[in-house]
Amino acid sequence: MSEQTMNPFLICQGQVKEACHQLGLEPAAYELLKQPKRFLEVSFPVKMDDGTVKVFTGWRSQHNDAVGPYKGGLRFHPGTYADEVRALSMWMTFKCATLGLPYGGGKGAVKCNPKELSQGELERLSRAFTERIAPLIGDDIDIPAPDVYTNAQIMAWITDEYSKLQGRNRFGVVTGKPIILGGSLGRNEATARGCVTVVLEACKKLGVDAAKATASIQGFGNAGSIAAILLAEKGVKIICAEDSRGCVYNAAGMDPKAILAHKTKHSTVADFPGAKNLPAGSSLTVECDILIPAALENSITSANAGGVKARIIGEAANGPTTPEADEVLFSKGIFVIPDILASAGGVTVSYFEWVQNLMGYYWSEQEVNEKLGPMMVKSFTAVYDMHKAKGVSMRAAAFMVAVKRVADAMRVRGWLG
Ligand code: NAD
Repeated sequence: MSEQTMNPFLICQGQVKEACHQLGLEPAAYELLKQPKRFLEVSFPVKMDDGTVKVFTGWRSQHNDAVGPYKGGLRFHPGTYADEVRALSMWMTFKCATLGLPYGGGKGAVKCNPKELSQGELERLSRAFTERIAPLIGDDIDIPAPDVYTNAQIMAWITDEYSKLQGRNRFGVVTGKPIILGGSLGRNEATARGCVTVVLEACKKLGVDAAKATASIQGFGNAGSIAAILLAEKGVKIICAEDSRGCVYNAAGMDPKAILAHKTKHSTVADFPGAKNLPAGSSLTVECDILIPAALENSITSANAGGVKARIIGEAANGPTTPEADEVLFSKGIFVIPDILASAGGVTVSYFEWVQNLMGYYWSEQEVNEKLGPMMVKSFTAVYDMHKAKGVSMRAAAFMVAVKRVADAMRVRGWLG
C-alpha cells in the first residue's frame, strides 16, 4: 500500500497503540480502542427525478462513548468506504478528548456523488439515510454534523426528518445547522479561529514574534482563508496561498481578504495581482515561519517533507501529514500542532451549539469566541506539557492526553477489568 493510499484505519490504530504503550495502559484499553464499539451499515432506496430507483449504501460508526455521546460528521462522497469511516470516528474520539469535550467519537458517510444529484434527490437521500440510522442517533446518543460535501441545509433536513420520527422537535440531534434552526453563531469561523489560537500559543513558546512572522496557507477554502485573515489581523504576513488550481507568492505579503475576493471572482487564487504564480505544491515548501495545511489528507508526505522550511505547522486539515512525513518533520525539529488539536475549534463550537440547543438559550458571536479561546489554550497547554515531560512529538503527546482521558473514563466505568 503506498503512503498516499495507506488505510487510515491502520494509521489510527498505530497512533492509538503507541499512546497506550507509552501510557502503560491495561491491554483491554487498546483492545477496546482499536475498533468502533458499534458499526452500522445501511442500504436504502431513493427515487430519482427520472422516476427510477437507486439504492445507496451508508455507514455510521460509533467508536467510543465512555465520556459522552458519540459526535462526528457525516460525509457524502463517491470515494468513501467503511474503513475510512471507522478511522474518522476513532479520530473524533481523540479530537473531542484532546479538547476535554463531554463527547465520544462517531462518523458517518453515504457513498454517493452529491455533484450529480439534484436538490430534490439530495433531500430524499438525506431523509432516507436519517430514517435508517434514526434508532442509533439522538441528542444524548450520537450527534452528527457536516463534513465533506454535506452542509447546513442537509443538517436541516436531518433535523426535520428525525423530529418527525420522534413526534417533536429535536434540534440537538445534529450540529452545523442553519442559525434559524438552532445553529450557533461563530461556527463557520471556528476551525480557523481555533487553529490560529494554538498557532499563536506555539509562537509564544518558541519565541516567534507573530507581528514579524510569515505564513503560507495550503488550501484557501473555509478553514484556510479564514485562518489567513485571522493571522493577518495579528500582524502575520501572508506570503503564499494555494488552492487546487493555483499557488501565489509575494514575499512582501498579501491581503488575505483581497485574495478571497479574487478567488470568489475567478474561482482560484491563481494570477492574484502583484503575486508570482508558483508550481502546485509550493505552498508546503516555501520559506516561512508558519505553515497551515488546510486542504486534504496526506498532503505532506515523505516526498516533500524534507523540503518543508516552516518552523510551526498548524494542521487545520484532518490528516494532512502521513506517518512517514511526520517522522521527517520531527527529525527536522519542526513544531507540528496536530490535527486533533489544531482543527478542533469546529467541534468545540459544535459542542456549544448543542449546549445552546439543550438550554434553548442562545449566545452572541462574541460570547462563543470568548468561550472557544480559553478552551483551545488550555488544551494546547496540556499537550505541550505532555510533549515536554515525555520528550515525544506534539502529535504523540496529543494522543497520550486524549487516550488517557478516555481510558480513565473507561476504567471508572469498569470496562477495563
Ligand atoms: P473547503 O472545501 O472549503 O476548502 C478546501 C480548499 O483546499 C479549497 O480551497 C481547495 O481548492 C483546496 N485544495 C484542494 N486540493 C488542493 C491541493 N491539492 N493543493 C492545494 N489546495 C487544495 O474545505 P474546508 O472546510 O476548509 O476543510 C479543509 C480541511 O479542513 C479538510 O481537511 C477538513 O476535513 C478540515 N476541517 C474542516 C473543518 C471545518 O469546520 N470546515 C473542521 C475540521 C477540519
